[in-house]
Amino acid sequence: MTEIFVVNSGSSSIKYQLVELETGNALVNGLIERIGEPGSEAEDHGAGMKLALDHLGDGHDIAAVGHRVVHGGTRFTEATVITDEIEQQIDDLSPLAPLHNPANLIGIRAARKALPDIPHVAVFDTAFHRTLAPEAYTYAIDAAVAEKYGVRRYGFHGTSHKYVSERAAEFLGRPLADTKTIVLHLGNGASACAIDGGRSVETSMGMTPLEGLVMGTRSGDLDPAILGYLHRQGGYDFDALDDLLNKRSGLLGLTGSGDMRDVEAAAGGGGTSEDDGAEGVGAAVAEAALAVYRHRIRSYVGAYWAQLGRLDALVFTAGVGENSVSLRETTLVGLEGLGISVDPARNASKSRAARYISPDGSPVAVLVIPTNEELEIARQTFAAID
Ligand code: ADP
Repeated sequence: MTEIFVVNSGSSSIKYQLVELETGNALVNGLIERIGEPGSEAEDHGAGMKLALDHLGDGHDIAAVGHRVVHGGTRFTEATVITDEIEQQIDDLSPLAPLHNPANLIGIRAARKALPDIPHVAVFDTAFHRTLAPEAYTYAIDAAVAEKYGVRRYGFHGTSHKYVSERAAEFLGRPLADTKTIVLHLGNGASACAIDGGRSVETSMGMTPLEGLVMGTRSGDLDPAILGYLHRQGGYDFDALDDLLNKRSGLLGLTGSGDMRDVEAAAGGGGTSEDDGAEGVGAAVAEAALAVYRHRIRSYVGAYWAQLGRLDALVFTAGVGENSVSLRETTLVGLEGLGISVDPARNASKSRAARYISPDGSPVAVLVIPTNEELEIARQTFAAID
Protein backbone atom coordinates (compact mmCIF):
# COMPACT_ATOMS: atom_id res chain seq x y z
CA MET A 1 0.00 0.00 0.00
CA THR A 2 1.18 3.53 -0.80
CA GLU A 3 0.99 6.16 1.90
CA ILE A 4 0.95 9.85 1.03
CA PHE A 5 1.12 12.53 3.70
CA VAL A 6 -1.12 15.45 2.69
CA VAL A 7 -0.48 18.86 4.25
CA ASN A 8 -2.63 21.98 4.06
CA SER A 9 -0.80 24.75 5.84
CA GLY A 10 -2.59 28.01 6.66
CA SER A 11 -1.28 31.12 8.36
CA SER A 12 -2.03 29.75 11.85
CA SER A 13 -2.97 26.12 11.24
CA ILE A 14 -1.75 22.87 9.74
CA LYS A 15 -4.34 20.37 8.49
CA TYR A 16 -2.89 16.98 7.67
CA GLN A 17 -3.94 13.55 6.59
CA LEU A 18 -2.11 10.31 5.90
CA VAL A 19 -3.85 8.86 2.85
CA GLU A 20 -3.65 5.25 1.74
CA LEU A 21 -3.73 5.66 -2.00
CA GLU A 22 -5.17 2.34 -3.09
CA THR A 23 -8.17 2.49 -0.74
CA GLY A 24 -8.50 6.25 -0.38
CA ASN A 25 -8.67 5.74 3.38
CA ALA A 26 -7.41 8.42 5.76
CA LEU A 27 -5.11 6.48 8.11
CA VAL A 28 -4.44 9.52 10.28
CA ASN A 29 -6.24 12.84 10.28
CA GLY A 30 -5.38 15.93 12.27
CA LEU A 31 -5.49 19.68 12.70
CA ILE A 32 -3.11 21.90 14.65
CA GLU A 33 -4.69 25.27 15.29
CA ARG A 34 -3.79 28.72 16.60
CA ILE A 35 -0.10 28.17 15.85
CA GLY A 36 2.00 30.88 17.48
CA GLU A 37 -0.81 32.16 19.69
CA PRO A 38 -0.42 32.21 23.48
CA GLY A 39 -1.35 28.87 25.00
CA SER A 40 -1.23 27.03 21.66
CA GLU A 41 0.25 23.54 21.45
CA ALA A 42 2.69 24.74 18.76
CA GLU A 43 4.78 27.90 18.94
CA ASP A 44 5.53 27.87 15.21
CA HIS A 45 4.92 25.79 12.08
CA GLY A 46 8.09 23.75 12.70
CA ALA A 47 6.76 22.70 16.11
CA GLY A 48 3.33 22.07 14.57
CA MET A 49 4.83 19.81 11.91
CA LYS A 50 6.70 17.88 14.59
CA LEU A 51 3.43 17.35 16.49
CA ALA A 52 1.78 16.11 13.30
CA LEU A 53 4.61 13.64 12.64
CA ASP A 54 4.52 12.48 16.27
CA HIS A 55 0.81 11.88 15.76
CA LEU A 56 1.54 9.70 12.73
CA GLY A 57 3.89 7.64 14.86
CA ASP A 58 6.45 5.12 13.67
CA GLY A 59 5.99 2.31 11.23
CA HIS A 60 4.73 4.32 8.27
CA ASP A 61 6.43 4.22 4.93
CA ILE A 62 5.53 7.61 3.47
CA ALA A 63 6.09 7.66 -0.29
CA ALA A 64 5.70 11.43 -0.66
CA VAL A 65 4.30 14.55 0.94
CA GLY A 66 1.61 16.44 -1.00
CA HIS A 67 1.19 20.13 -0.20
CA ARG A 68 -1.87 22.15 -1.06
CA VAL A 69 -0.80 25.43 -2.65
CA VAL A 70 -3.49 27.96 -3.45
CA HIS A 71 -2.01 29.99 -6.31
CA GLY A 72 0.04 28.56 -9.15
CA GLY A 73 -0.40 31.56 -11.47
CA THR A 74 0.33 30.73 -15.11
CA ARG A 75 3.62 29.12 -14.07
CA PHE A 76 2.17 25.94 -12.56
CA THR A 77 -0.29 23.95 -14.62
CA GLU A 78 0.19 20.66 -12.79
CA ALA A 79 1.42 19.15 -9.56
CA THR A 80 5.16 19.77 -9.27
CA VAL A 81 7.97 18.19 -7.25
CA ILE A 82 9.29 20.85 -4.88
CA THR A 83 12.91 22.01 -5.05
CA ASP A 84 14.42 25.20 -3.63
CA GLU A 85 13.79 26.82 -7.00
CA ILE A 86 10.13 25.76 -7.01
CA GLU A 87 9.76 27.16 -3.48
CA GLN A 88 11.09 30.45 -4.79
CA GLN A 89 8.65 30.42 -7.70
CA ILE A 90 5.72 29.78 -5.34
CA ASP A 91 6.94 32.71 -3.27
CA ASP A 92 7.15 34.87 -6.41
CA LEU A 93 3.39 34.31 -6.83
CA SER A 94 2.63 35.60 -3.32
CA PRO A 95 1.43 39.03 -4.50
CA LEU A 96 -1.44 37.22 -6.28
CA ALA A 97 -2.41 35.35 -3.08
CA PRO A 98 -0.97 37.25 -0.12
CA LEU A 99 -3.25 35.48 2.38
CA HIS A 100 -2.44 31.99 1.12
CA ASN A 101 0.85 31.31 -0.66
CA PRO A 102 3.15 32.57 2.14
CA ALA A 103 1.24 30.38 4.64
CA ASN A 104 1.47 27.38 2.31
CA LEU A 105 5.21 27.98 1.98
CA ILE A 106 5.81 28.03 5.72
CA GLY A 107 4.29 24.56 5.88
CA ILE A 108 6.35 23.36 2.91
CA ARG A 109 9.57 24.56 4.50
CA ALA A 110 8.76 22.99 7.87
CA ALA A 111 7.81 19.67 6.25
CA ARG A 112 10.86 19.54 3.98
CA LYS A 113 13.04 20.13 7.01
CA ALA A 114 11.31 17.44 9.03
CA LEU A 115 11.21 14.91 6.17
CA PRO A 116 14.23 15.75 4.01
CA ASP A 117 14.57 12.35 2.35
CA ILE A 118 11.02 12.11 1.02
CA PRO A 119 9.84 13.87 -2.16
CA HIS A 120 7.52 16.83 -1.59
CA VAL A 121 4.99 17.86 -4.22
CA ALA A 122 3.00 21.09 -4.60
CA VAL A 123 -0.59 20.61 -5.77
CA PHE A 124 -2.17 23.86 -6.94
CA ASP A 125 -5.79 24.96 -6.51
CA THR A 126 -5.54 26.85 -9.77
CA ALA A 127 -4.06 24.10 -11.96
CA PHE A 128 -7.32 22.41 -12.98
CA HIS A 129 -8.45 25.70 -14.56
CA ARG A 130 -5.46 25.86 -16.93
CA THR A 131 -7.90 24.75 -19.66
CA LEU A 132 -9.99 27.95 -19.49
CA ALA A 133 -10.09 29.53 -22.94
CA PRO A 134 -8.84 33.11 -23.29
CA GLU A 135 -12.41 34.37 -23.68
CA ALA A 136 -13.24 32.82 -20.30
CA TYR A 137 -10.19 34.02 -18.38
CA THR A 138 -9.80 37.51 -19.87
CA TYR A 139 -11.07 40.55 -18.00
CA ALA A 140 -12.03 43.31 -20.43
CA ILE A 141 -9.53 45.89 -19.21
CA ASP A 142 -6.52 47.55 -20.89
CA ALA A 143 -4.66 44.55 -22.26
CA ALA A 144 -1.22 45.99 -21.51
CA VAL A 145 -2.13 46.59 -17.86
CA ALA A 146 -3.55 43.08 -17.54
CA GLU A 147 -0.43 41.59 -19.10
CA LYS A 148 1.98 43.59 -16.98
CA TYR A 149 0.32 42.64 -13.68
CA GLY A 150 -0.98 39.16 -14.49
CA VAL A 151 -4.58 40.31 -14.16
CA ARG A 152 -6.79 37.48 -15.44
CA ARG A 153 -9.08 34.82 -14.07
CA TYR A 154 -7.20 31.86 -12.58
CA GLY A 155 -9.96 30.05 -10.64
CA PHE A 156 -9.62 28.05 -7.41
CA HIS A 157 -10.96 24.92 -5.67
CA GLY A 158 -9.48 23.05 -8.65
CA THR A 159 -8.65 19.84 -6.78
CA SER A 160 -12.25 19.64 -5.56
CA HIS A 161 -13.83 20.46 -8.92
CA LYS A 162 -11.62 17.88 -10.63
CA TYR A 163 -12.29 15.15 -8.09
CA VAL A 164 -16.04 15.75 -7.95
CA SER A 165 -16.56 16.04 -11.70
CA GLU A 166 -14.66 12.80 -12.30
CA ARG A 167 -16.67 11.05 -9.58
CA ALA A 168 -19.87 12.36 -11.18
CA ALA A 169 -19.06 10.80 -14.56
CA GLU A 170 -18.06 7.56 -12.85
CA PHE A 171 -21.26 7.56 -10.79
CA LEU A 172 -23.38 8.10 -13.91
CA GLY A 173 -21.42 5.44 -15.79
CA ARG A 174 -20.64 7.93 -18.55
CA PRO A 175 -17.31 8.45 -20.30
CA LEU A 176 -15.73 11.57 -18.78
CA ALA A 177 -14.93 12.81 -22.30
CA ASP A 178 -18.66 12.99 -23.05
CA THR A 179 -19.94 14.45 -19.79
CA LYS A 180 -20.95 18.06 -19.17
CA THR A 181 -21.12 18.98 -15.52
CA ILE A 182 -21.64 21.97 -13.27
CA VAL A 183 -20.09 21.58 -9.81
CA LEU A 184 -21.26 23.82 -6.97
CA HIS A 185 -18.56 23.73 -4.28
CA LEU A 186 -20.33 25.44 -1.39
CA GLY A 187 -18.18 25.65 1.73
CA ASN A 188 -16.88 28.67 3.62
CA GLY A 189 -15.38 29.58 0.29
CA ALA A 190 -17.72 28.81 -2.59
CA SER A 191 -17.31 28.47 -6.32
CA ALA A 192 -19.08 27.09 -9.36
CA CYS A 193 -17.30 25.36 -12.20
CA ALA A 194 -18.45 24.22 -15.64
CA ILE A 195 -16.63 21.11 -16.77
CA ASP A 196 -16.81 19.79 -20.32
CA GLY A 197 -15.23 16.42 -20.98
CA GLY A 198 -13.09 16.66 -17.83
CA ARG A 199 -11.86 20.16 -18.69
CA SER A 200 -12.70 23.26 -16.68
CA VAL A 201 -14.27 25.76 -19.10
CA GLU A 202 -15.74 28.35 -16.70
CA THR A 203 -15.34 29.03 -13.02
CA SER A 204 -16.70 31.70 -10.73
CA MET A 205 -13.60 32.60 -8.70
CA GLY A 206 -11.31 34.92 -10.59
CA MET A 207 -7.86 36.39 -10.14
CA THR A 208 -8.41 35.78 -6.43
CA PRO A 209 -10.95 33.71 -4.49
CA LEU A 210 -13.08 36.83 -3.94
CA GLU A 211 -15.11 36.73 -7.14
CA GLY A 212 -18.30 34.83 -7.82
CA LEU A 213 -20.77 33.30 -5.40
CA VAL A 214 -21.81 34.67 -2.01
CA MET A 215 -19.51 33.02 0.55
CA GLY A 216 -19.16 32.78 4.33
CA THR A 217 -17.28 36.06 4.68
CA ARG A 218 -16.54 37.09 1.06
CA SER A 219 -18.84 39.19 -1.09
CA GLY A 220 -18.40 37.43 -4.40
CA ASP A 221 -19.35 39.51 -7.45
CA LEU A 222 -19.82 43.23 -7.19
CA ASP A 223 -19.45 46.34 -9.29
CA PRO A 224 -15.75 47.29 -9.12
CA ALA A 225 -16.72 50.96 -8.98
CA ILE A 226 -17.96 50.31 -5.44
CA LEU A 227 -14.32 50.31 -4.26
CA GLY A 228 -13.63 53.81 -5.54
CA TYR A 229 -16.99 54.99 -4.26
CA LEU A 230 -16.36 53.71 -0.73
CA HIS A 231 -12.86 55.15 -0.86
CA ARG A 232 -14.07 58.61 -1.82
CA GLN A 233 -17.30 58.69 0.18
CA GLY A 234 -16.35 56.57 3.19
CA GLY A 235 -12.61 57.10 3.47
CA TYR A 236 -11.88 53.40 3.06
CA ASP A 237 -8.29 52.75 2.05
CA PHE A 238 -7.38 49.61 0.15
CA ASP A 239 -6.54 47.53 3.20
CA ALA A 240 -9.92 48.43 4.69
CA LEU A 241 -11.66 47.51 1.43
CA ASP A 242 -9.80 44.22 1.29
CA ASP A 243 -10.86 43.48 4.83
CA LEU A 244 -14.48 44.52 4.18
CA LEU A 245 -14.87 42.36 1.08
CA ASN A 246 -12.87 39.29 2.17
CA LYS A 247 -13.56 39.09 5.89
CA ARG A 248 -16.73 41.03 6.69
CA SER A 249 -19.01 40.37 3.74
CA GLY A 250 -20.94 37.39 2.39
CA LEU A 251 -23.27 35.69 4.89
CA LEU A 252 -21.37 37.33 7.75
CA GLY A 253 -21.88 40.80 6.34
CA LEU A 254 -25.53 40.22 5.57
CA THR A 255 -26.52 38.53 8.83
CA GLY A 256 -23.75 38.75 11.44
CA SER A 257 -22.85 35.07 11.08
CA GLY A 258 -20.73 33.56 8.31
CA ASP A 259 -21.75 30.04 9.27
CA MET A 260 -24.56 28.57 7.15
CA ARG A 261 -25.86 26.50 10.06
CA ASP A 262 -26.50 29.65 12.10
CA VAL A 263 -28.14 31.42 9.19
CA GLU A 264 -30.42 28.48 8.40
CA ALA A 265 -31.31 27.98 12.05
CA ALA A 266 -32.24 31.63 12.30
CA ALA A 267 -34.27 31.59 9.08
CA GLY A 268 -36.09 28.44 10.17
CA GLY A 269 -36.76 29.86 13.61
CA GLY A 270 -40.15 31.03 12.42
CA GLY A 271 -40.01 34.25 14.42
CA THR A 272 -40.55 37.62 12.85
CA SER A 273 -38.60 39.95 15.11
CA GLU A 274 -35.14 41.01 14.09
CA ASP A 275 -33.29 39.35 16.94
CA ASP A 276 -34.83 36.02 17.76
CA GLY A 277 -32.64 33.62 15.80
CA ALA A 278 -29.52 31.63 16.62
CA GLU A 279 -26.41 33.68 17.33
CA GLY A 280 -28.55 36.79 17.35
CA VAL A 281 -29.42 36.53 13.65
CA GLY A 282 -33.00 37.67 12.97
CA ALA A 283 -35.26 35.39 10.94
CA ALA A 284 -36.19 37.96 8.31
CA VAL A 285 -32.59 39.05 7.89
CA ALA A 286 -31.43 35.43 7.62
CA GLU A 287 -34.11 34.56 5.05
CA ALA A 288 -33.20 37.60 2.96
CA ALA A 289 -29.51 36.61 3.01
CA LEU A 290 -30.34 33.06 1.94
CA ALA A 291 -32.37 34.49 -0.93
CA VAL A 292 -29.33 36.45 -2.12
CA TYR A 293 -27.13 33.35 -1.76
CA ARG A 294 -29.53 31.19 -3.81
CA HIS A 295 -30.23 33.87 -6.42
CA ARG A 296 -26.52 34.16 -7.19
CA ILE A 297 -26.14 30.39 -7.55
CA ARG A 298 -29.12 30.20 -9.92
CA SER A 299 -27.62 32.90 -12.13
CA TYR A 300 -24.40 30.92 -12.42
CA VAL A 301 -26.19 27.66 -13.15
CA GLY A 302 -28.09 29.32 -15.98
CA ALA A 303 -24.99 30.99 -17.37
CA TYR A 304 -22.93 27.80 -17.26
CA TRP A 305 -25.75 25.76 -18.77
CA ALA A 306 -25.67 28.22 -21.68
CA GLN A 307 -21.88 27.94 -22.04
CA LEU A 308 -21.97 24.14 -21.97
CA GLY A 309 -24.93 23.91 -24.37
CA ARG A 310 -26.18 20.80 -22.60
CA LEU A 311 -25.98 19.60 -19.04
CA ASP A 312 -25.63 16.02 -17.83
CA ALA A 313 -24.96 16.57 -14.15
CA LEU A 314 -25.32 19.32 -11.58
CA VAL A 315 -23.38 18.44 -8.43
CA PHE A 316 -23.49 19.83 -4.90
CA THR A 317 -20.39 19.41 -2.75
CA ALA A 318 -18.48 20.77 0.32
CA GLY A 319 -19.87 21.70 3.74
CA VAL A 320 -23.05 23.46 2.66
CA GLY A 321 -23.57 21.49 -0.56
CA GLU A 322 -23.20 18.11 1.13
CA ASN A 323 -25.17 18.89 4.27
CA SER A 324 -27.86 21.47 3.73
CA VAL A 325 -31.05 19.75 2.62
CA SER A 326 -33.04 22.97 2.51
CA LEU A 327 -30.45 24.94 0.56
CA ARG A 328 -30.29 22.25 -2.13
CA GLU A 329 -34.03 22.07 -2.40
CA THR A 330 -34.74 25.78 -2.48
CA THR A 331 -31.83 26.86 -4.68
CA LEU A 332 -32.91 25.02 -7.80
CA VAL A 333 -36.58 26.02 -7.68
CA GLY A 334 -37.53 27.59 -11.01
CA LEU A 335 -34.92 25.76 -13.06
CA GLU A 336 -37.31 23.01 -14.19
CA GLY A 337 -37.32 24.54 -17.67
CA LEU A 338 -33.63 23.68 -17.91
CA GLY A 339 -34.36 20.08 -16.96
CA ILE A 340 -33.19 20.63 -13.38
CA SER A 341 -35.29 19.51 -10.43
CA VAL A 342 -34.91 17.95 -6.99
CA ASP A 343 -36.87 15.07 -5.49
CA PRO A 344 -37.62 16.07 -1.88
CA ALA A 345 -37.43 12.55 -0.42
CA ARG A 346 -34.12 11.73 -2.13
CA ASN A 347 -32.76 15.13 -1.16
CA ALA A 348 -33.62 14.54 2.49
CA SER A 349 -31.67 11.25 2.65
CA LYS A 350 -29.02 11.20 5.36
CA SER A 351 -26.67 9.10 3.22
CA ARG A 352 -23.01 10.19 3.10
CA ALA A 353 -22.44 8.44 -0.23
CA ALA A 354 -22.51 9.93 -3.71
CA ARG A 355 -26.19 9.99 -4.66
CA TYR A 356 -28.96 11.26 -6.94
CA ILE A 357 -31.32 13.87 -5.64
CA SER A 358 -33.17 14.41 -8.92
CA PRO A 359 -36.23 12.32 -9.84
CA ASP A 360 -35.89 9.31 -12.14
CA GLY A 361 -35.86 10.26 -15.80
CA SER A 362 -34.73 13.82 -15.14
CA PRO A 363 -32.87 15.31 -18.14
CA VAL A 364 -30.16 16.60 -15.76
CA ALA A 365 -28.86 14.34 -12.97
CA VAL A 366 -28.69 16.43 -9.80
CA LEU A 367 -26.17 14.79 -7.48
CA VAL A 368 -24.60 15.17 -4.07
CA ILE A 369 -20.99 14.01 -4.13
CA PRO A 370 -18.80 14.43 -1.04
CA THR A 371 -15.54 16.07 -2.07
CA ASN A 372 -12.20 14.61 -1.03
CA GLU A 373 -9.46 17.11 -1.70
CA GLU A 374 -6.92 15.14 0.36
CA LEU A 375 -7.35 12.05 -1.80
CA GLU A 376 -7.08 14.10 -4.99
CA ILE A 377 -3.91 15.79 -3.67
CA ALA A 378 -2.51 12.35 -2.75
CA ARG A 379 -3.22 11.02 -6.25
CA GLN A 380 -1.67 14.00 -7.99
CA THR A 381 1.31 13.84 -5.64
CA PHE A 382 1.93 10.21 -6.48
CA ALA A 383 1.54 10.87 -10.20
CA ALA A 384 4.10 13.68 -9.96
CA ILE A 385 6.80 11.46 -8.41
CA ASP A 386 6.11 8.46 -10.62
P1 ADP B 1 -14.16 25.09 4.07
O1 ADP B 1 -14.45 25.95 2.89
O2 ADP B 1 -13.59 25.85 5.22
O3 ADP B 1 -13.49 23.78 3.76
P2 ADP B 1 -16.55 23.47 4.52
O4 ADP B 1 -16.57 22.86 3.17
O5 ADP B 1 -16.29 22.61 5.68
O6 ADP B 1 -15.61 24.73 4.61
O7 ADP B 1 -17.95 24.19 4.72
C1 ADP B 1 -18.24 24.95 5.85
C2 ADP B 1 -19.67 25.46 5.73
O8 ADP B 1 -20.55 24.32 5.68
C3 ADP B 1 -20.11 26.32 6.90
O9 ADP B 1 -20.83 27.45 6.42
C4 ADP B 1 -21.06 25.40 7.64
O10 ADP B 1 -22.07 26.10 8.31
C5 ADP B 1 -21.66 24.60 6.51
N1 ADP B 1 -22.30 23.38 7.01
C6 ADP B 1 -21.74 22.31 7.61
N2 ADP B 1 -22.71 21.43 8.01
C7 ADP B 1 -23.90 21.98 7.65
C8 ADP B 1 -25.27 21.57 7.78
N3 ADP B 1 -25.60 20.42 8.37
N4 ADP B 1 -26.21 22.40 7.28
C9 ADP B 1 -25.90 23.56 6.71
N5 ADP B 1 -24.64 24.00 6.54
C10 ADP B 1 -23.65 23.22 7.01
